[in-house]
Amino acid sequence: MARPSTPAALAIDGDRLLRRLRELGEIGADPRGGRTRLALTDADKAARELIVRWLSEAGAAVRIDRIGNIHGVLEGRSDLPPIATGSHIDTVVRAGAYDGCYGVVAGIEVLQTLSAAGELPRASVAVLVFTNEEGVRFAPDLLGSRVVAENVALEDALALHSADGCSIDEELRRIGFAGSVSPRELRPSHFVELHIEQGPMLEAEDLTIGIVEAVQGHSWWRVVIEGVANHAGTTPMALRRDAGATAMQLACALIRDAEERGVPNVATVGTITFEPGAINVVPGRATFTIDMRDDSVYSLRRAEQRLHEALLRLDRAGYTTHAQCTSRHEPVVFDDELCGLLQRVAAQRGLAARRMLSGASHDAQMMAGVCPSAMIFVPSHRGISHNPAEHTEPRQLVQGADLLLHALLELANNPETCHAPSSL
Ligand SMILES: [Zn+2]
Repeated sequence: MARPSTPAALAIDGDRLLRRLRELGEIGADPRGGRTRLALTDADKAARELIVRWLSEAGAAVRIDRIGNIHGVLEGRSDLPPIATGSHIDTVVRAGAYDGCYGVVAGIEVLQTLSAAGELPRASVAVLVFTNEEGVRFAPDLLGSRVVAENVALEDALALHSADGCSIDEELRRIGFAGSVSPRELRPSHFVELHIEQGPMLEAEDLTIGIVEAVQGHSWWRVVIEGVANHAGTTPMALRRDAGATAMQLACALIRDAEERGVPNVATVGTITFEPGAINVVPGRATFTIDMRDDSVYSLRRAEQRLHEALLRLDRAGYTTHAQCTSRHEPVVFDDELCGLLQRVAAQRGLAARRMLSGASHDAQMMAGVCPSAMIFVPSHRGISHNPAEHTEPRQLVQGADLLLHALLELANNPETCHAPSSL
């Protein structure tokens, strides 16, 4: 076998990467379009079995941990802690082919390229495939990586039930992925997740690569405003306690804050309902949801504070208000040195890159609590994701995987270039 003279000459097999993405994308094909491969279903089982086969073909030792995460490890030349990459292969309903799957298949491609070259790096290189990232069938999302990061206890995770009454524990056993290894067994020195952007920024700026330096935190609220339902014809404007109009004004004010002050970075009122809900009745009760996201804890708190101040003013004006936090994630800042390394390697590979934020959640944000972590994004055409129309140009998929290969190789051969955690 011809050996490349320098690591820089190593290249992934782009055709194999794209072929495997297509093959994986056919598992769980949904007759309505796209694929539906919810966590721990028969379709997930079939996809997992394919991934295990490819990992073995790539020369990796495969282990399954107790939450069903797949660990594929290509042994290095030393006993340095492994460098890890990975993502997820469970999907939402009628998903595209790339969300999560791209990072996993590209990781396998990196292992296969390294083992075929016959020159193993100093540190081992691992691909992690996390259980139930999407959180569609079992809540919360990011479950496999949460357990690795001890954000959720293993026993609690195993006891979670889906809406159809199945527990994670039972489903893992049923599909043959209830492993015996501790989720903390693999203690990587670094984690890099490759993923599609799922947003429009890279395409709009004609860039190939995003180096993700932070994941936005989110704060979700369900807000209820109670006023007085009354006759729409006989109640003068000045004497109304119109819960509907008040809710709309508050919703607009929150959105305007994001537009004008940029705090939070984005705000979305995704649902709003009025009761009793009739054309000729002043609404007595209004309920809306607000999704606020920011990369700064401070800004997210300020946005929450403004919401509460506004509700307090409404209480004083005679309304009754309730606000319930339905989900909250702190922003996660990735490792600056690791982002710097990714940026350097992207420049060496001639790839146009910029640093950016992720608006969506990813396993890497949990891994950031385990070891220095960061992410690489490739463009999503028109920013479409969680949709069968999800698309990234094949050339860009190959370029992203090429960057992953060379970044992991650099880390695995010179882990000292990017600081290792002191506990290891
Ligand atoms: Zn994903």
